[in-house]
Amino acid sequence: MIYEDYYIFTPGPVKMSEEIMEVGAKQTPYFRNCEFSDVTFACEKGLLEMVNAPEGSRVIFLTASGTAGMESVVMNLLNQEDKALVVHGGGFGGRFVDICAVHGIPHTDFIVDNTNLHDIEALAPKEEYTSLIVNAHETSIGHIYDLDAMGAYAKKNDLLFIVDAISMLVTDPIDMQSQNIDVVIASSQKGLALPPGLTMVILAPRALDKVHDVQNLYFNYKDYLRNGERGQTPYTPAVTIMLQLEARLNQIKRRGGIQQSIKRAKDIAEYFRAEIKGLPLEEYTPYMPNAMTTLTPTDGKSAMDIVNGLEDGYKVMVCPNGGAERDLIFRVSHMGDMTRAYTDVLINALYDYYGVERKNG
Ligand SMILES: *Cc1c(COP(=O)(O)O)cnc(C)c1O
Repeated sequence: MIYEDYYIFTPGPVKMSEEIMEVGAKQTPYFRNCEFSDVTFACEKGLLEMVNAPEGSRVIFLTASGTAGMESVVMNLLNQEDKALVVHGGGFGGRFVDICAVHGIPHTDFIVDNTNLHDIEALAPKEEYTSLIVNAHETSIGHIYDLDAMGAYAKKNDLLFIVDAISMLVTDPIDMQSQNIDVVIASSQKGLALPPGLTMVILAPRALDKVHDVQNLYFNYKDYLRNGERGQTPYTPAVTIMLQLEARLNQIKRRGGIQQSIKRAKDIAEYFRAEIKGLPLEEYTPYMPNAMTTLTPTDGKSAMDIVNGLEDGYKVMVCPNGGAERDLIFRVSHMGDMTRAYTDVLINALYDYYGVERKNG
């Protein structure tokens, strides 16, 4: 049983609540019936509310990981006549660039650094585009972009605004209507704190108008939209995860709604950042989401050694980076069923690992 008794601070999968895990322990039911259609409709309604989707928006449920959401959006909404401005501030932005390249979609690899794009108007290449693509929270480095500024830019230039919100949904604010967002990509294993395997694509009417025929059977949105009208999917959905999603949406409601969940995540993130001030660790970016904190050792220690030290000595899982960033940064997720007490386990482990006495806690 790998990692069952570990404390988990990784940015996906994240800590799940007992209530949601109990749903996952039950027999998977048959799904081609009205009872399951009602589950689909409830999930669709709850997600549309969560992101304040405009009237007439729809949700596509894919049995796949988040990358399938990213790729299928590019396949179904963009074509050779388009030109996409793809924000590339880390590994996930790079993935969107790769997806556009694989599918032959004209695009600009918009490499950005040290900005949350509040100044996109000044930074964007002065070319004609048809769409703007961003990972709202670039999870590879823990950097969140200014969706207000980007949405205003998209509106002014009449761009289809595609937002991968996978690692900021539920912890950080997003509003399709006020931020002029046409597409939101969500996935089960990050802020939604469910098992991996279910990806949701929310399409506003402007995006629905762009859905075209594709040379692809499984990721054909028209097929999903047609089946979705009766609360079904063309192929077997992740039945249990959808039941867990329904339960999770109810849980968020019961706990005071989405704004309350965002406030809770913000409180946890700020608590963690304040409590580790006594350690030789520096915040990697000034543009941090509530979802995650990325840290750089300032005493020359290797970030990878810290990750391994926490795992081996304290059964605490944080997330290392690969490649050139391996020794430079590690990441701490605040997504999922987090409390201050649970976060204290990590904070205390860090102080103990450094042999420094924790002052406040
Ligand atoms: C996790 C994540 C994804 C999806 O990754 P999968 O491994 O395919 O689920 C996509 N975008 C962002 C920003 C992510 O954090």
